This record gives sequence, structure tokens and C-alpha cells, in this order.
Amino acid sequence: MKLTSIQKDNLPAIHMEKLKIFDTTLRDGEQSPGFSMNIAEKLRMAKQLEMLGVDIIEAGFPIASKGDFEAVKLIAESIKRSQVTGLARANDNDIDRAWEAIKGAYSPRIHTFISTSDIHLTHQLRKSRQEVLDMAVAAVKRSKSHTENVEFSAMDATRSDREYLSQVIEAAIDAGATTVNIPDTVGYAIPHEFGNLIKYITQNVPNIDKAVISVHCHNDLGLATANSIAAVLNGARQIECAINGIGERAGNTSLEEVVMTLYTRKDYVNAETNLNTTEIYKTSRLLTRITGVGVQPNKAIVGSNAFAHESGIHTDGLLKDKITYEIMTPESVGVKKSILVLGKHSGRHALKEELKTRGYELSDEHLNKIFERFKELADKKKNIFDEDVETIVAEIVLRAPDRYKLINLNVISGSFDMPTATVQMEVEGEQIKDVGTGDGPVDAAFKTIAKITGTQSKLLKYSVDSITGGTDAQGEVTVRLEENDKEIVGRGAHNDIIMASVLAYINALNRLAYLKQNPLKTLL
Ligand SMILES: [Zn+2]
Repeated sequence: MKLTSIQKDNLPAIHMEKLKIFDTTLRDGEQSPGFSMNIAEKLRMAKQLEMLGVDIIEAGFPIASKGDFEAVKLIAESIKRSQVTGLARANDNDIDRAWEAIKGAYSPRIHTFISTSDIHLTHQLRKSRQEVLDMAVAAVKRSKSHTENVEFSAMDATRSDREYLSQVIEAAIDAGATTVNIPDTVGYAIPHEFGNLIKYITQNVPNIDKAVISVHCHNDLGLATANSIAAVLNGARQIECAINGIGERAGNTSLEEVVMTLYTRKDYVNAETNLNTTEIYKTSRLLTRITGVGVQPNKAIVGSNAFAHESGIHTDGLLKDKITYEIMTPESVGVKKSILVLGKHSGRHALKEELKTRGYELSDEHLNKIFERFKELADKKKNIFDEDVETIVAEIVLRAPDRYKLINLNVISGSFDMPTATVQMEVEGEQIKDVGTGDGPVDAAFKTIAKITGTQSKLLKYSVDSITGGTDAQGEVTVRLEENDKEIVGRGAHNDIIMASVLAYINALNRLAYLKQNPLKTLL
């Protein structure tokens, strides 16, 4: 364990423990309803996580589907600074498949797991405690035959018998596990209790000094961050978490919350991470943009109100001395005012350079499309802000693969006319044109598209947001569709709201088509 020293004003030097941040946005997060991403989106997200400085990226669950496997493989081969891991159940097939996917990584890790609670043993696995212990050992050994870097998770640890849990962990470490994860799979633990469990493990697993203790908390009772911090105070040295706290059910520990708690209260926790906190806000926004699911305004750290001091008393106090109410600065997480980045006369080269500083290395084809869209926008809108640029890139680069494409849209609407939409689309290479009416222009367009694509999906939600201020701002439309119990979100941005709506709807239909070929799996 690496230790660093800091000297506080009147206090003796204290040792700062280094914590590892294990991000599972692309595995636990991505598998939850409404958060599925395509391969290009996953790669973009992984690169941003690398910029953020997370120690380990859990890129997916390779055996789940061909799409999952390909995404994990591509991420493993593209990431240079973070470790990349793939999830595997405790059997040879899963483990070998995970290894196939991650073996090209600069630092691959296999993450294998099995449940240790009697509830799961009886009702799910139908196996005895001894059988499960043997399976855990065999799984770690199999993983170890591929790589030194092996994480073992005892699923449903918080509802497991402590003595049995300790035996399994000890056996896993003996078999070669270098990280042992203690998940609160069902989000059941209370901070004090969870801290005690970690302490118990440090005191009752004889070989625990040979592995890093990790925790993976779920937020069913809103306690995931509190539980993770309690675990750190009792010896855990890896936290598993996800951007914006996304994940199964109520989600995982939110990365931004644990990282900023450690950053703001390192005086109390005595632990720090390797993260570049100024990339947090950008990472949160990227995830929101990709998935179309925003965070609530009062969300800690990344909500739009998180740093807004509206009350008169607070504002007055803040003006006099920032420390009165501000425990951390917006700049420390990378929140800043909209920045004007490009203007109407900016050329292709300026755009390319701007995109490069954001970490986008684009093909000429993508760059041409983005430039075209940028010029179109700049003609109608005076100032192009950084959010505009990000939105255009998301529209063009992260939208593939498209089954449905819009070729032409013409909508007539007004006080006297029946709203009518003429839509021309390309469906798997074939051009189809149709006309339809509706209750309003958006309804007319959606109904016509539904007719052309033959979709059976139901529209659950439709909302419009303005990306930046002003009446010339780009409108960002989010639609949520449901088909056969699958929910999906689509997004579209344009300075014409009807166009943005149609792009969002078609995006959602493309995502549904993609999802059908890559069914989600749910675990851990
Ligand atoms: Zn989980």
C-alpha cells in the first residue's frame, strides 16, 4: 500500500491512504433499464473515465452477448492508463470469455463472483456452502491461470453469515485473489453496521493483508455513499461506483459523491484518490448526453443547483467570504460558465483543434459531417458554446449504428391547417416516403415515422430542453419509448424543435433495434 504524508497546520503529519476507484458505469450502470449504450458510446465514455483518472474501468460482462464482448474488447485495446476488467460468473466459460475480451488491455483484470448468502444459496444457486466455496476457489484459480490481477466478489455479502463469508474470502485469497469485494448487492446495510463488517473481515480473515478490500454498495435506502465511506474508515481500499450513481434499481454508489467526500473531508477520512476531480462535471454531462437521462437539480455535486446559492442570506455570506457556505468550489469539479468556443467564421481547422482539446480524434468522414452541422448551426445562431459542440459530436459520432435514417421532413401546421407531416426515410437501405396527420406537428411527424418503420413501441415521455440560453438556442428533445417491457431513451438536438423531436424519436427507434440484438443481462 502506497502511503503519502501531509502536514496540517498544528497537527502531526498523518498518512494518507491511497484509494482505488473502480468504475462500473459501463457494466452495472449500463445494464439498468434506459441506460444501454452502443459500442461507440461505450468507448467514448471509457475514454472520458480514463481522463477522469479512474483506476479500474469495468467495461462490461463479456459472456452476456456478442455486443458486450466486442465493446469490452475494444475498450480494453483502447485504454492506456486505467486497468480494464470484465465480469465473469464462477465458471470456466465465463472466465475464459472475459479473458478473451480483456487480454489486449495494458492492465487487464478478471472480476469473478459468486453469491455467499444462504438466501441466494438456497433459492438461486441450490448449492451447499461447501460447493459454493469450492466453486469460488476454482474460479479464482482459473482466472489466475490467465492473469495475476484477479478480483473476487462475494455477492450478497451483507446478508451472508459472517463466519462463512470470511472463510470464502480467505480461500479466495489463498487461491490468488488480489482484490476481494464485499458487495451490498441489495442495498440493505446501514453505515455503522457495514463499517463493522469490514472491520470484522480485517480482523477475522488471517491472510487479508495479501489483498485489497473493495466495496460495492447499492443505493436502495439512499445509503450507498455513506456505506462506502464507512467501509473506508474501517479498512476498505477500493470503492466501486458509477457516474451519476446509475446502476441496478436505485443505482450504485455515485462516483462524484464518494470522490468529493474524500476530497473535501480528507482531514477526517485520511484517504485520497488519484482522480482529477475537475473532470467530474464533464463526465457526468457526457453520460447524461449519451443516455438521455439527466440528474435531479438537487443532486449532490453534479445537479444544476448543487452550487447555486439563491437565498439572500447565503449570497450575502458568500460574497463576504466564500468559506461561510461553500465547502468546495464549483471549479474543483469542473463546473464553469458556458464558454464561447467558436463563431460563425471559425473554419474547419479551428473546429478540428477544438475537438482535439476535448479528446476527440475523429475520422475525416465524421469531421466533415460535424463541420457541416456546425456551419448550419452557426448560420442560425450567433454564438457556439461548448455544450453546442459536445451535442453535435454526440449526434454524429455516437449515434451509430443506424437502422433508420431521416432523409427529408416537411411539416405544415398553423391555426387553420390540419397538422400534416411528409417524411422520407431510409430503412435498411430502402427509401420510403409517407404522409400523415396528427394532433400537432410533432404528433403528425411521429405518427408518420411509426407508419414507415412499423414500430410497435409506445411513447412514454416527451420533453424539450434548451441547451443554452436565448431563443436561437438548440432545443434538445428526449423521448422515452417502450416495447415488450424494454424501455429506451432517444435524444435529438436541433435549433428547430420539430426537427429535434424527429431526430430524438428516430434515435430511440435505432436504440430499440440495437437493444433487440444485444439483450441486457442483470447480475451482481
Ligand atoms: Zn451492483
